[in-house]
Amino acid sequence: ALDWQSMNITVAGLGVSGISAARALAGLGASVTVVDGGSSEAHRERAASLEGEGISVRLADAETLPEGTDLVVTSPGWKPTSPLFQAAAEAGVDVVGDVEIAWRLRGPDAAPWLAITGTNGKTTTTRMLASILAAAGLRTAAVGNIGTPIVDVVQEGDDAYDVLAVELSSYQLHWAPSLRAHSAAVLNLAPDHLDWHGSMEAYAADKGRIYEGNRVACVYNTADKATEDLVRGADVEEGCRAVGFTLGTPGPSQLGVVEGILVDRAFVEDRHKQAQELAEVADVSPPAPHNIANALAAAALARAFGVPAAAVRDGLRAFKPDAHRIQHVADVDRVAYIDDSKATNTHAAEASLAAYESIVWIAGGLAKGATFDELVAKSAKRLRGVVLFGADRALIREALARHAPEVPVVDLDRTDTGAMLAAVREAARLSEPGDTVLLAPACASMDMFTNYNKRGDAFAEAVRELGAVDG
Ligand code: ADP
Repeated sequence: ALDWQSMNITVAGLGVSGISAARALAGLGASVTVVDGGSSEAHRERAASLEGEGISVRLADAETLPEGTDLVVTSPGWKPTSPLFQAAAEAGVDVVGDVEIAWRLRGPDAAPWLAITGTNGKTTTTRMLASILAAAGLRTAAVGNIGTPIVDVVQEGDDAYDVLAVELSSYQLHWAPSLRAHSAAVLNLAPDHLDWHGSMEAYAADKGRIYEGNRVACVYNTADKATEDLVRGADVEEGCRAVGFTLGTPGPSQLGVVEGILVDRAFVEDRHKQAQELAEVADVSPPAPHNIANALAAAALARAFGVPAAAVRDGLRAFKPDAHRIQHVADVDRVAYIDDSKATNTHAAEASLAAYESIVWIAGGLAKGATFDELVAKSAKRLRGVVLFGADRALIREALARHAPEVPVVDLDRTDTGAMLAAVREAARLSEPGDTVLLAPACASMDMFTNYNKRGDAFAEAVRELGAVDG
């Protein structure tokens, strides 16, 4: 354990996670300085309240390492190449994230972590897992990259929970070198956030850290070989098993689907049986293929923790998906309007485009270094039309010209918030009865909206307006 009292800790970033880390560390007796490049009114207000608690704040300088720093604590938005971290490396000072701090704050009897990462499906799977664990009567919470900052949860004490369902982003894994989960899952791996990580290899390596030191099971996706490779490359505890999930018939040590039933062949209680039935596909909402995969991954982690089959079924039935994830908004003139604003990368958009037959696709925003050729080539035959907006829409337009030249495209050439209403109107014009208008932008939202929630809300609002006009 660390002696926090003698430490000078610099926290990077005056955001939600930075403030929570600063408070926790100051509470342990460390001398804490929060640094942030901003200096707006909002920054100064937050700084004033922290200073009232004895935490130093330095604004308008995100680059220089404060004199005497022993440890730097990062925030998610800061790239590994940030000058502050380079200065730390030069000074021989460790840089860690909030997850590492939480991990180091756990006592000897703390609740084990069942950890989840992947390019897409993390939040959904983590919530499904928490729902299953709760159905088994365990005291649990979905934490990490969702909801309550993980440092706060750990500080509730070793007795507060039996087990935690922990969602981890690639950023958090990058900065959490000593994390050791009970069991962990990588759901899938597709290019995302490459501008942050620098390369696909670096991104995969960060995701793969989640398996390091696992005790019971490393859960991987049989349809995504990269996830299996990460398991093979991991240094795990003796006896830890590789457990695959598949949408097809499961092999030994796998979970899968047989005639509409989710079955487990990895953790079978009854020695006389080859497989244990867990739940029906219809127990999963929505029952789209990618979401069945999420349910299987959640079930695998729960089963690794010893949860009985009936609790898997009850937990999946109790689970309700979050907003903006393939959410049906309304039908207008026999066209279904679906909000998948959370599809912030091409891999997620591909999953939702695969769930419909004849689609008017609304897309665009910040591409984050992605390319769109594969997505467009795979989805071309399902597209009735496309409406584009946002900063990087030209990348999608060019991919459409290459792989779907016959599909009509409306390029709105706009990045203002009002573009959503225009986009929905154009989509309505392109659509025919029976079609689906799908907001699955394949891009981040921040060029036009505060976040994907706001983007989804704007879509729903526009659809309501359309419905009101068309009657
Ligand atoms: P994350 O927390 O990883 O961003 P979410 O559960 O919030 O994941 O879902 C993000 C987006 O990815 C949604 O648009 C959803 O439709 C899509 N999605 C969810 N699960 C998967 C999956 N297993 N494979 C591909 N796309 C998925």
